[in-house]
Amino acid sequence: MTETTTTRTRGPRIPFSFELYPPKSEAASTALTHTIDRLAAAGPDFISVTYGANGSSRTSSLDVLRYILDATGVDPMAHLTCVGSSAAEASRLIREFLDAGVRSFLALRGDPPQGIDEGETFLGDLGSAAELVQLIHRVQAERVPYRETAIPGLPGARAVKTDREKVRIAVAAFPNGHPRSRSTSQDIDTLLAKQAAGANLAITQLFFHADHYLSFIQRAREAGVEFPILPGIMPVTSPNRLRRILELSGEDEPADLSIQLQVEPTEQGQREIGITHAVGLARELIAGGAPGLHLYAFNQHETVLAVLEGCGAIPASAPHAATQLTAAQRTAHR
Ligand code: FAD
Repeated sequence: MTETTTTRTRGPRIPFSFELYPPKSEAASTALTHTIDRLAAAGPDFISVTYGANGSSRTSSLDVLRYILDATGVDPMAHLTCVGSSAAEASRLIREFLDAGVRSFLALRGDPPQGIDEGETFLGDLGSAAELVQLIHRVQAERVPYRETAIPGLPGARAVKTDREKVRIAVAAFPNGHPRSRSTSQDIDTLLAKQAAGANLAITQLFFHADHYLSFIQRAREAGVEFPILPGIMPVTSPNRLRRILELSGEDEPADLSIQLQVEPTEQGQREIGITHAVGLARELIAGGAPGLHLYAFNQHETVLAVLEGCGAIPASAPHAATQLTAAQRTAHR
């Protein structure tokens, strides 16, 4: 991710990206293409697509990535997990995604299936995301397409030009610690190992307070982590969604947001609370020097575009105007 200096009337451009998951039905698939078109029109740096545990979504993830690449021209980022795979299987998977034109990856170890302990042989050949990062580089380096061209003045002679493209390899970072990590220093050590393996970007697990991200960045920089670390922002638009993501991520409950969502009786009101919270968080992160914003979109465009609009990352006249922040919300965050 490069910090761009392209200026809009409001100042330097704030890079942003989105995360989607593969659809689970035909109807969801049709709806998702519409969502992708709307997200792409906002001009993201990339759109990432999650990967189901143990390859359960390989085909549907690839279909979504192909649509992003072919229909929108936005850079698609493939999440890949390696837990439970042999090195040969993981190499085949990486080659398949590269052959489809994917050049950006989020390399993850993935969670062991329920009931399987860390250390079981089932966990596969690759013990960590850092090993997957190395493997992606290795597989990419082995696929060296080349072109032969005539050499002027030397009839019959051919010059060989290699065309080794660089891949972008992102990794996960955990501002509040990975649930299985023994200490905060282990999380930083893990990030350093991913950097040493060749990762060039990190995306964080969701969090609810800007200082959790900002203090993590400070510790990571002091330890020698150099690549950009994008904050992952999830607008939480209902008490049920909050409950579910706390279960999945292991994050502590944000008491203020939780209470606000519970006392608000209407869905629209809850949605506005979630957007307002995410806008406030995004603004603090940008002010604190975050290199961009990565938004968990839950396969819907309205909410995340409203957040970007609210924090000034996209203009208020963006084409999703149907669901913009209310004037009161915008004023509250100025
Ligand atoms: P690793 O970084 O390899 O770490 C796993 C554990 O081992 C941690 O406790 C870590 O501290 C420890 N560890 C790793 N390396 C070392 C080392 N060198 N020394 C000591 N300890 C070490 N899951 C999916 O199944 N599909 C997805 O699409 C997906 N997308 C995600 C997107 C984001 C932005 C994030 C933050 C997470 C995502 N996950 C996804 C969840 C992820 O798979 C889990 O968090 C998983 O438990 C860890 O993956 P990891 O890549 O962080 O593993």
